[in-house]
Amino acid sequence: MTLGSDVSRLSTSGATAAALGLSIVVPLYNEAAGLALLHERLIALAVALRQRYGLASEVVYVDDGSADATLSIARGLAATALDVQVVSLSRNFGKEAALMAGLDHARRGAVLFMDGDGQHPPDLIEKLVAYWIDDGYDVVYTAKAHRDNEPALRRLAVHGFYALINWGARQKIPEDAGDFRLLSPRAAAALRQLPERNRFFKGLASWIGFRQIRVDYEPAPRAHGMTTFSATRLIGLSIEGLTSFSVAPLRLASLLGLLLATGAFLFGLSILWETWVDGKSVPGYPSLVVGLMTIGGVQLIMIGIVGEYIGKILSELKARPIYFVAEHTDKRADIPAAATEPERTAAE
Ligand code: UDP
Ligand code: MG
Repeated sequence: MTLGSDVSRLSTSGATAAALGLSIVVPLYNEAAGLALLHERLIALAVALRQRYGLASEVVYVDDGSADATLSIARGLAATALDVQVVSLSRNFGKEAALMAGLDHARRGAVLFMDGDGQHPPDLIEKLVAYWIDDGYDVVYTAKAHRDNEPALRRLAVHGFYALINWGARQKIPEDAGDFRLLSPRAAAALRQLPERNRFFKGLASWIGFRQIRVDYEPAPRAHGMTTFSATRLIGLSIEGLTSFSVAPLRLASLLGLLLATGAFLFGLSILWETWVDGKSVPGYPSLVVGLMTIGGVQLIMIGIVGEYIGKILSELKARPIYFVAEHTDKRADIPAAATEPERTAAE
């Protein structure tokens, strides 16, 4: 029995990489307004990739329980130049689950994840693909070039989140990295093997290792509608991410406990000093109340943190599926034989 996993047979370079093809996974939640346009842009991209590398592509649209016409529009999209799969989940399971459903259904070698709201520019994909095929990178992730237009408080919160989650970690999650990323066939295979149900995709994609590279870009404004991630939802997601990915909060709890205990011990010593050496009688009531409240408060917070982890253990133990597919359509692209010839030769 081996306890590790060998995905080296999927290592690729140049022409062999292109032969495995590319799956583009797009999670959709109420994206009816921009879907047709996005699909057109992906078709143009597929044509360009086929010409440049002889790369066959498919797109996997995951309808995450949309309430609008997203599903019916997705069903009607033509498989011109690329295969089109539409995976419809039985309800809204959230973006992480939708990404997983897409990864599970992706049939080609490499997998690219992008949002369906037009914020992730399809034009950048050619560049990401070039890093994989030409330069042999396994995880090509994009990151916001800057956060200048975000409020200072939010930037501070993001900074604190990454400091905590990366605390003591061997493989740091890059700050500002988004879900727009490309995984080579072996990296995608590795990601599929991680068995946990509570998934923090960004963290896992970084944790698997391999050759990773960062590409900076400027996210476009949302093509329509509003973001589904409000401040409260982002905080919830951060707690999810932290507790499903790292034990840093538990360590913080121990550290805080240690600090408090040391403080209490020193305080006790100083009281002894005052009564024995200085001969003063220390007024006890206020210090007692402050001490009680501090310890009580800290203990409640720590129980809350431990509770979060117990909740995670419970949900892993129940082992429920993380999504249900209610409907799946699959259209194969109709490509004339001449179009499958790459411009480049295999020797390149
Ligand atoms: N999304 C999803 N399920 C959800 C929420 C969002 O599949 O429950 C999709 C959404 O359709 C979009 C992507 O996840 O393609 C990112 O969502 P959004 O634009 O709201 O997030 P932001 O870009 O603000 O991070
Ligand atoms: Mg968005």
